[in-house]
Amino acid sequence: MRRFLLLVGSALVLVAGVMLVRTLRYRSDGVEVRAVPEVAVRQGASERLAGAVRIPTISHEDAAAFDADAFQRLHAFLETEFPRVHSQLRREIVGTHSLLYTWPGRNPSLEPILLMGHLDVVPVEAGTEDRWQQPPFSGRIADGFIWGRGAIDNKFTVLGTLEAVEMLLGEEFQPERTVYLAYGHDEEVGGTRGARHIAARLKGRGVRLEMVLDEGGVIGDGLLPGLSAPTALVGIGEKGFLSVELATQSAGGHSSVPPARSAVGILSEAVVRVERNPMPARVEGPTRQLFERVGPAFPFAQRLVFANLWATTPLVIRKLETSPTTNAMVRTTTAVTMFQAGTKENVLASRARAVINFRILPGDSKARVLEHVRNVVDDERVAVTSAGAFSAEPSAVSSTDSESFRMIERTIRSVAPGTMVAPYLVVVVTDARYYGDLSSNVFRFMPVQLAPADLARMHGTNERVAVQDYERAIRIYRQLIVNAAGSERAR
Ligand SMILES: [Zn+2]
Repeated sequence: MRRFLLLVGSALVLVAGVMLVRTLRYRSDGVEVRAVPEVAVRQGASERLAGAVRIPTISHEDAAAFDADAFQRLHAFLETEFPRVHSQLRREIVGTHSLLYTWPGRNPSLEPILLMGHLDVVPVEAGTEDRWQQPPFSGRIADGFIWGRGAIDNKFTVLGTLEAVEMLLGEEFQPERTVYLAYGHDEEVGGTRGARHIAARLKGRGVRLEMVLDEGGVIGDGLLPGLSAPTALVGIGEKGFLSVELATQSAGGHSSVPPARSAVGILSEAVVRVERNPMPARVEGPTRQLFERVGPAFPFAQRLVFANLWATTPLVIRKLETSPTTNAMVRTTTAVTMFQAGTKENVLASRARAVINFRILPGDSKARVLEHVRNVVDDERVAVTSAGAFSAEPSAVSSTDSESFRMIERTIRSVAPGTMVAPYLVVVVTDARYYGDLSSNVFRFMPVQLAPADLARMHGTNERVAVQDYERAIRIYRQLIVNAAGSERAR
């Protein structure tokens, strides 16, 4: 017995020792970079973003409400405000109102880069207009902010990248590799007319891209609890999307002589089973890489946990599962979104249906989700089928070992010193998914700094961006083009 205890005791000491050593040697593998001198942005940059915000290029779910005139006015506005871009780059109008600009590189053997954004914005929810501190389409500049719908999502990116190119043209910069600017006009309603067509057009021309950069992550300021440094979250993959319908049928009839089990009762049980049996959680892929990257910046106790994921993963999962935001990072999520049955209080429902929306973790698949739901429901009275017009497999995961990822990291840290850069998983669907076939380096990031309270402004009330932040973003986009397409990289 004593020998056994001794054995267990020394094993524990050994494990503790290994964990401690790993913690002490735990370093982030982020690159060291020198800050670049601050360049002045063009005069009037904020006014131009504000001017674009004033043009209400709203995407509506109802395609009949599409306001072609607003998009044409935005095109004309860009033409006037970015004269060098429009005289020196080739502009194509794609899928009626999307824009594709081509800035040819000097060396056609180098694969081009593509910067994406979108021209459309979401509507302002009816009844919330008077909660805005500045009217949503006034494009006011006040208190150091540019206010209005689209100030971040996503005229920030469109105007920001155009500013960067306009500046570089003024400096007589010539890219070695071709630079594309691709701005969809229907991202907020699926991108099927815009980004999908732009990607298809390039694919039809046989274009392979070195790198694609879309919106997605931001520079988080306190987004990760316990982390004080601002952290640029660069999406390296995005989740898939599948809606599953559960349906039951019964004979119906009068409620005075009901059967023991109703269609609604049977369906309810099935829904509860699905909700209680989520797909398994895993700390892998982009989420694991996020923790490996940011872990060293945490206080000791958390550092110990992150440095030893080989032993602590179950613990980490249990913690992450407790919040919807972090739960979404580690598993395919289950969201019951619709439940329909019955028409009258004294008539048995002859049909009941529920729709459950799954956001699929890379590594899982649509087929695996369906199989999981069928196994969990395990009731022949309940039909399980995929539902809805839209579905998507999870995206491929772009590598952080690529020259492109390192270049993005270097760029951010050289313009915004003190910022950590980390890969992460985007839990929503973006237009970037259309480019999976054209490039293995698809990244999702916009250089705007947001605190937790700011997240609700996008698609919500009081969307705004700090003037300082916007100017820094222009510098980041400019430096990104220099680093990605300039002669230094191409050599
Ligand atoms: Zn957007």
